[in-house]
Amino acid sequence: MNILLLGAPGSGKGTASEKLIKFNGFTQLSTGDLYRAEISNKTELGLKAIEYINAGKYVPDEITIGMVAKFLEKKSDNLLFDGFPRTVGQAAGLDKLLESKGTKLDKVIHFVCDESVLIERLGNRMICPVCKKSYHKINIKPKVNGICDNDGTSLVVRPDDAPDKIKVRLEEYNTLTAPLINIYNNKMVEIDVTNVTPTELYEAVVEGLKL
Ligand code: ADP
Repeated sequence: MNILLLGAPGSGKGTASEKLIKFNGFTQLSTGDLYRAEISNKTELGLKAIEYINAGKYVPDEITIGMVAKFLEKKSDNLLFDGFPRTVGQAAGLDKLLESKGTKLDKVIHFVCDESVLIERLGNRMICPVCKKSYHKINIKPKVNGICDNDGTSLVVRPDDAPDKIKVRLEEYNTLTAPLINIYNNKMVEIDVTNVTPTELYEAVVEGLKL
């Protein structure tokens, strides 16, 4: 089964993915993580994407679809799409790519959240650059200040989690990604994630997917 986690930045897609990978055997395809790896490896693709990402803007569709096509060459089932598709054009691109592999997107989980909560979460977020686990400076602290519980790596603040970039990212989401809600209506389950803990979030997703 291929699934998509659809939701604004800060809605918990990465947090839910972590457990779905660990306990349910999904392979994550996070275009944000793929881009960050390309940037840290200073590849041509990373250089193309960095300006958009640091400004909080979406990378152009043809670049993102090309990167996903490469990933799907290696694996096209039991995928958890996180942060892709994010535009109507990307949704059409993904349909075509999956069809060519004889597979499809089976279910979409839509995370619904108050915007004030998203801004508060993103503004307090710290992430582990190695295992990608995310923390909250006040509510979900690591055991040792500034250090990842999983692997002891120093936590970082993403450059696009600066307040002015958060605003742009939410605008991009509302304009370009929100239309996907209608497109995926017939395979979508909605979860209100405004007031849930990471464990409650995971349990709601598992129930929504009927795993
Ligand atoms: P978040 O969901 O918190 O915004 P991501 O890690 O998914 O974070 O994405 C970070 C940035 O990477 C986005 O703001 C955008 O610039 C770029 N990006 C990731 N996925 C896509 C995509 N599918 N289309 C265009 N840009 C993308």
